[in-house]
Amino acid sequence: MTAPTEPSRVPEGLWIKCPGCAQILYNKDLTASLSVCPKCAHHFRLDAAARLRSLLDDGVWHEHDAGLVSNDPLKFTDRKPYVNRLREGMAATGLRDAVITATGAIEGLAVEIVAMEYGFIGGSMGVVVGEKITRAAERSIAHRQPLVVICCSGGARMMEGTLSLMQMAKISVTLARLDRARVPYVAVLTDPTTGGVTASFAMLSDISIAEPGALIGFAGPRVIEQTIRQKLPTGFQRSEFLLEHGMLDMIVDRRKLRTTLGRTLRFMGAAPVATAPGETVPPKTVHDTTPPVLAPD
Ligand SMILES: [Zn+2]
Repeated sequence: MTAPTEPSRVPEGLWIKCPGCAQILYNKDLTASLSVCPKCAHHFRLDAAARLRSLLDDGVWHEHDAGLVSNDPLKFTDRKPYVNRLREGMAATGLRDAVITATGAIEGLAVEIVAMEYGFIGGSMGVVVGEKITRAAERSIAHRQPLVVICCSGGARMMEGTLSLMQMAKISVTLARLDRARVPYVAVLTDPTTGGVTASFAMLSDISIAEPGALIGFAGPRVIEQTIRQKLPTGFQRSEFLLEHGMLDMIVDRRKLRTTLGRTLRFMGAAPVATAPGETVPPKTVHDTTPPVLAPD
């Protein structure tokens, strides 16, 4: 008989065990390397704000639609009421839903950027996420600034039922307009990118970049195995497998993501941030102050 795996006795928050190489890492070192293991390059999950800080010039951005909140259209309850889950998500992340949309600059190039927050109900896409991403794409069209979306999501948010699924169509239609306007769209697929997010905007970009080892798929591997009653090949639904099968353009280490995005955007003709004399860009606001408004029904 084998001994059960001992629960970790390492105090929380100071040290962390790398799931890639089992090394014990000092949390501060990990943060300094953008949450990539310095020993084996395992990519830990990054929250939306840390993601924006890591990519945008001077770590600043102008946030949009921060006040949008879900109004729980179905009055949904499973193990607990959906409103409680929303409240917990807000308390845990400081956000009102699972995405930050913002204007900023990458290597001096003006961009509309979207970063999904896994810590808010698994980064799931409900009405608010759908609306905010749609508006980001619309701003891209209006200002002719490239759209960069950092995906990190468990898929559509079942607590909002069909309304969540409708977001897939809504965003896709706007991305088609973006495409016709010939404004570049780059998607960065991080661990995990699944469900309705994969089935819509994550796979509609001009350039698809993924982080190493990210789970990218529609249904999870366990669900597929149970359905087809077959063992899936090793590495199935990981970035490397997808690249090999032509589903991605490149896999980029997070520590090189910013320079790669800069190079990619320049290649696609992105314009530098417009500077009026005496003006500082990008705007030094980190949060907008619009009062909370309910998401549309
Ligand atoms: Zn490691």
